[in-house]
Amino acid sequence: MGLSDVLNYLSLAPGKDVLASRFPGAEDGGMGMVASVLGGNSEDLSIVLSVPASAAVMAQLELAPEAVTKFLAGAGNMPQGKRDVPAKLQVTITHDDKAQASNVVAVLRGSDPVLANEAIVYSAHMDHVGKRMDGDVFNGADDNASGSAGLLEIATAYAQGKEKPRRSIVLLSVSGEELGLWGSAYYANHPTWPIDKVVADINTDMIGRSGSESGPQQIAVTPSYSHDMYSTLVRDSVPLAAELGVTFTTGDRYYTRSDHYNFAKLGIPVIFFCSGEHEDDHQVTDHADKLDGEKMERIARLAFWTGWNAANSDDRPRVLGPRKDWR
Ligand SMILES: [Zn+2]
Repeated sequence: MGLSDVLNYLSLAPGKDVLASRFPGAEDGGMGMVASVLGGNSEDLSIVLSVPASAAVMAQLELAPEAVTKFLAGAGNMPQGKRDVPAKLQVTITHDDKAQASNVVAVLRGSDPVLANEAIVYSAHMDHVGKRMDGDVFNGADDNASGSAGLLEIATAYAQGKEKPRRSIVLLSVSGEELGLWGSAYYANHPTWPIDKVVADINTDMIGRSGSESGPQQIAVTPSYSHDMYSTLVRDSVPLAAELGVTFTTGDRYYTRSDHYNFAKLGIPVIFFCSGEHEDDHQVTDHADKLDGEKMERIARLAFWTGWNAANSDDRPRVLGPRKDWR
């Protein structure tokens, strides 16, 4: 990974603590991480230095570059350099007040005169991290063209189905996810459907890869059975998954990481499908040819049926709290 990747990511997500662990021992850009590691608190200003500049700073701080590289690679402690070294910093800030991001929302009215006032939301983010500083494009095939394609297929299935679900369906394509779940936060605060009548959110983000974290017949799901927000929505999805030959793994480490979280924070039952992190995350190598199309289809079908059942059930989904297993 080069410094340009690091700069690109940092410029989008300034000060995210996760950067220190997400970018261990970056070969040619490794030294460039120092400033952001030191300023790892999201309240701090993060500054990424070029390799020569960071080498100069480390020399002033009497830090051994090898020790810092070791720390960045996850081995060894953060080396302690000299403190209270006077420094002068000149920063030019450019503010772009024309920047804008949009959500796209579609609604399919339910067939039941009473239950149609309630809605199941399907969400997926359409944005990714743009272009790298050298001009190379972050295609984001898995993150999140895969979930967006799933959302479109789900919309098509509802639109073409002869039978309409009893509850209404809100199809929500959000933007700004990579900047901090902006689109779903905006929707949760400015809902186009009465938010107390939103009974569930089904979120798909990165459903296209079969890898170390989830194989072709697996998917990571949160909130899992051991989570406080485990709900009938998730529980009732398990047998549907079984019919499609899919088993669930625990995806609770992604609980706050995608758009479902803005619904979960309001107490709304959610389910998040994610095949998990991989080596091409937020890299220009997140290409379509690495996607497992059959898995994507399986997970999109699972998301569809999970929402379909919730939309047709007499009772709205409810939070169960932690359980011993998925039942
Ligand atoms: Zn994503």
